[in-house]
Amino acid sequence: MKVESKNIIIDPGLAEEIKKRSGENVFLCYQCKKCAAGCPNRKFMDASPTELMRKVQLGMTDDAMKDNTIWYCLSCQTCTARCPQDIDIAHVVDTLRIIVQEKGVKADTKNSRLFNMIWMKMLRFTGRIYEVALTGMLNTFTGKPFKDMDLGIKMIKSGKLKLFPSIKRTSEMMKMFKRAKKLKK
Ligand code: SF4
Ligand code: SF4
Repeated sequence: MKVESKNIIIDPGLAEEIKKRSGENVFLCYQCKKCAAGCPNRKFMDASPTELMRKVQLGMTDDAMKDNTIWYCLSCQTCTARCPQDIDIAHVVDTLRIIVQEKGVKADTKNSRLFNMIWMKMLRFTGRIYEVALTGMLNTFTGKPFKDMDLGIKMIKSGKLKLFPSIKRTSEMMKMFKRAKKLKK
């Protein structure tokens, strides 16, 4: 049952939905904060991974979906590796991203949703991330095509960025995406 008050929507169904889709039980979380302590992007997030888990447990759907946390997560899996309850937090975050996209929830994510979309498309077609194209596309789609160009040139010259992509196992990656699509159906 969904409960609405003036500022908050409580929807206990969110934890169930996540369990159904990912197999992860967020109610196992006892708020030890190990995930938050190890998260490399915590300082940019509205809520830490620990707080996100709590919001999902409490059914604070609106908050969990609109916070920038799920879009600022790097999928590095540090939280997953540190969790004493064996919760795959990165998988919970991924599942939330899918749910949010399906529901069309709007959030002030400062282009991170766009970044995520370009990232996934690039991974699908090239098998790995080609940073120069990723940055170029993101800048173009956000209306600042020349942003950080000086820095980019310096990084290419010093060998920190590769000018040309190294494409790996594209067909395997395409197969993987196709399999995932089939499974979803
Ligand atoms: S997977 Fe995401 S939430 Fe977990 S530690 Fe990495 S950045 Fe933080
Ligand atoms: S590490 Fe696991 S148990 Fe601890 S706060 Fe994070 S999700 Fe909860």
